[in-house]
Amino acid sequence: MLVKLLIANRGEISCRIIRTAKRMGIHTVAVYSDADANALHVQMADEAVHIGPAPSRDSYLQAQKIIEVARKVGADMIHPGYGFLSENAEFARLCEDNQIVFVGPPVPAIDAMGSKSAAKKIMEAAGVPLVPGYHGDDQSPALLKQQADAMGYPVLLKAAAGGGGKGMRQVHHEKEFEQALAAAKREAMASFGDEQMLVEKYLTQPRHVEIQVFCDMHGNGVYLFERDCSVQRRHQKVIEEAPAPGMTEDLRKQMGEAALKAASAIGYVGAGTVEFLLDTDGSFYFMEMNTRLQVEHPVTEMITGQDLVEWQIRVASGEDLPLKQDELKINGHAFEARVYAEDPDNEFLPATGTLSFLQPPDESEHVRVDTGVRQGDKVSVYYDPMIAKLIVWDEDRPKALRRLAKALSEYRIMGVTTNIGFLYNLANTKAFKQANLDTGFIDKHQSEIFLKNEADIAGLLPLAALYLVLTQDKQHQQSGPSQQDPHSPWQCMNAWRANVDHVQHLDIQIHDEVYQVHVRQLTAGQQRRYRISAEGFNVECQGEIRGDNFTVILDGHRQNVVIGSDELGNGNELGCSLYTQSSALHFRQKLPDLGLLDHDQHAGGFTAPMNGTVVNHAVEPGEMVEKGQVLVIMEAMKMEHSLKAPKAGKVLEFFYQPGELVDGGAELLSFEAEE
Ligand code: ADP
Repeated sequence: MLVKLLIANRGEISCRIIRTAKRMGIHTVAVYSDADANALHVQMADEAVHIGPAPSRDSYLQAQKIIEVARKVGADMIHPGYGFLSENAEFARLCEDNQIVFVGPPVPAIDAMGSKSAAKKIMEAAGVPLVPGYHGDDQSPALLKQQADAMGYPVLLKAAAGGGGKGMRQVHHEKEFEQALAAAKREAMASFGDEQMLVEKYLTQPRHVEIQVFCDMHGNGVYLFERDCSVQRRHQKVIEEAPAPGMTEDLRKQMGEAALKAASAIGYVGAGTVEFLLDTDGSFYFMEMNTRLQVEHPVTEMITGQDLVEWQIRVASGEDLPLKQDELKINGHAFEARVYAEDPDNEFLPATGTLSFLQPPDESEHVRVDTGVRQGDKVSVYYDPMIAKLIVWDEDRPKALRRLAKALSEYRIMGVTTNIGFLYNLANTKAFKQANLDTGFIDKHQSEIFLKNEADIAGLLPLAALYLVLTQDKQHQQSGPSQQDPHSPWQCMNAWRANVDHVQHLDIQIHDEVYQVHVRQLTAGQQRRYRISAEGFNVECQGEIRGDNFTVILDGHRQNVVIGSDELGNGNELGCSLYTQSSALHFRQKLPDLGLLDHDQHAGGFTAPMNGTVVNHAVEPGEMVEKGQVLVIMEAMKMEHSLKAPKAGKVLEFFYQPGELVDGGAELLSFEAEE
């Protein structure tokens, strides 16, 4: 196979594709925007060509430009990765017109899955099970309501042209129907310029289970089993796993065959994913088909031992599928966790910054890290803020889950806020361990995942306080004037004084709350003991820090804790993550203010977190607002983000109107804080 492959993408997926291509002896060509000139995917590829400015609409979405590059370098195949142009029928058509092989399905297959209602009609005709519902053209409100009444509440209204959960409304009672319909239509009209609605039976506890299918050009098709992606925040996947917990051989076969039926109904070729909702009684319903490689494909690779990108390249080259259905086997269990630069405590607001320190867990047959960044790289406002995909494998689910938690606690990232603590807490919930999954999982278990329970915090605060005191002592010892007797109390430069009852007060911030903790040193010397107290606890403890490992004895209970600390971007705070066996705690401690900070400046507060659209101004210019009040709502990465007032004051001017596109980093408004 003599091929020159251009990868029309960036980040981890480009790196991942390049790795496979190299192993297959294929020459690789990367493309890059201004922001990615030194990116990992550019360095890894054999060649790389600049395609434009940082915003993706000027670079990675420039179909024509990418085709020109492919022609210029003589590439005979293009892999679109996921996102960007991967499901763009026009781009696939351009490849075809230029005799370049598009690693993906034929153009009509992409087209067929483009509209929700059209896709559903095709699937219905092919005998693929659909959620009971109405997908007709008659849109009179009376008829829609009649349909809803007949199928029974709750129902879900969905925009036919919808995506990203927009134009969707749950209706739990017939009395609410009219109002919900009007609201869903308004949202659909505003987002897609089309108010056509579907009415579906609303499943209250569904799981998202999807089937990986593969078809070649010679009429062969196989399914590479399922992935469970039920754990979602705002309809976006967070942790995926394969196989799906509790899946029976019989159901797997039924779902696999239904997925193949869906693929063959549209003449599919290549890798595709058929997404189903799986109800508590084992019924499953077609949701949509993704005509590309999925972000979460590695879990399938881990349990089947196959390289799906290699399969894609072989199939695109006209070869037969590498294996037949009965040659495919499931081995063990795999998880994938998406590590993002984002703030889970602030509605998952994307975070940006420089990855000042980056140390992933060690890779092995059990741990795989797919990433597109290195230490020193920037997480910019321009692209999806995913830092890496952490993938783990072991013989069974409990073992694999332990590997996941361990690997998460070993992931060290400094310079940007990440969701690692959130993922760790999620993976450690009892319900996740028991695989009690459904798409409402995160909402249902939020107090555990976001550590909202005061008793949980009270259990972790002493560890945080002890860590801070021990680090402080260590620093003082290292910078102390005499090393003659390091254990003498006279060498101790903290609050300890002979015969004086001395107490240190620490302000520790968790989420938005500041906790005052009192630390009394009980003994001097090497194994110092402390009494740590605050509202809700009073404990005696001692501990030792060795690198990232922190051993604590708390009222006689000894435990090992993993610690990651970080001086936060603006240098006036210390941020620490502490991973105990059951949960992760992220806390901050204010460092002394040396007068270097500009208090009026709300660091990055009024800039767009990334490329997106202004949805709504929440206040009028000139109107007085309170601290924390929402000023403007933006939509980016399929999610809405609110920008809030850092203190009381007023907005002087909004620089963008609702509906306008903004580039990440753009200033959205001017704000005057109250004197
Ligand atoms: P979109 O294209 O807007 O993302 P989907 O139809 O793919 O919309 O659905 C997104 C998510 O909404 C699903 O993953 C699931 O969590 C939920 N969902 C969709 N349809 C239903 C339904 N009938 N009952 C319950 N939940 C649903």
